[in-house]
Amino acid sequence: MSARPVLDGVWLVGSGTDEEALTDRHDCHCYLLWDGKGGFLVDAGTGLGAERWLDNVREVCDPALIGGVLLTHYHADHAGGAAAAREAGLPVLGHPITTEALAAADEDRTQVARARGVGVYPPDYRLRPAQVQPLAGGTRLTSGGVTVQVIDAPGHCDGHMVFLLEGRGGILLSGDCLFAEGRVSLQAIPDCRLTEYADTVATLAERSPDVLLPGHGDLVLGGAADAIRRAAASFARLVPPPNFLVAW
Ligand SMILES: [Zn+2]
Repeated sequence: MSARPVLDGVWLVGSGTDEEALTDRHDCHCYLLWDGKGGFLVDAGTGLGAERWLDNVREVCDPALIGGVLLTHYHADHAGGAAAAREAGLPVLGHPITTEALAAADEDRTQVARARGVGVYPPDYRLRPAQVQPLAGGTRLTSGGVTVQVIDAPGHCDGHMVFLLEGRGGILLSGDCLFAEGRVSLQAIPDCRLTEYADTVATLAERSPDVLLPGHGDLVLGGAADAIRRAAASFARLVPPPNFLVAW
């Protein structure tokens, strides 16, 4: 398995589905932003493929030069690898709600217990505690020449954040908030909140990012803004956009 370049300065370094960047089939897409001097990782996978993930990062850069791992949200397919990242000496940053949940390895709040119960994760999978530095929406982070805007994006779950890489028309790393074709991720869990989701998507549509790099599925390497506007327009008509998760 290896790091797959997806754009200048952006690599897919972990995935549950991408043949080249595959780390563990339970993992989300994990990205590396790197400009030769600094950068960030976005999302950490479950931790089940952490060695492969870190090996993929090392193919591109020295992890010690990275500004940190940015977590979009506390679901285990995105944040479970935080403990391994900390063990590798990397700072991990996320929403204060994510900080709290991961400090306690709270499997109820993060829905890991429920998801494991229905086979989303292996029976012996456990969320490992990890120290996550709290990150405020509205801040800008810079490492080397890489600058990322931190945007609060609740809806899919509490404490969800997305990251906008500045330059080149805007590259939105959207976690489980937005997917190709303007799809969203709605789940029957207590902290999936439709009206907050609608507000989030309306805000992101105003940003008009050209590129959408989601936590699962197809990457949108140009012209992403139209589908995001369509999703926002659907929410504005009180109808949730199509779900990325398929019922049957
Ligand atoms: Zn999620």
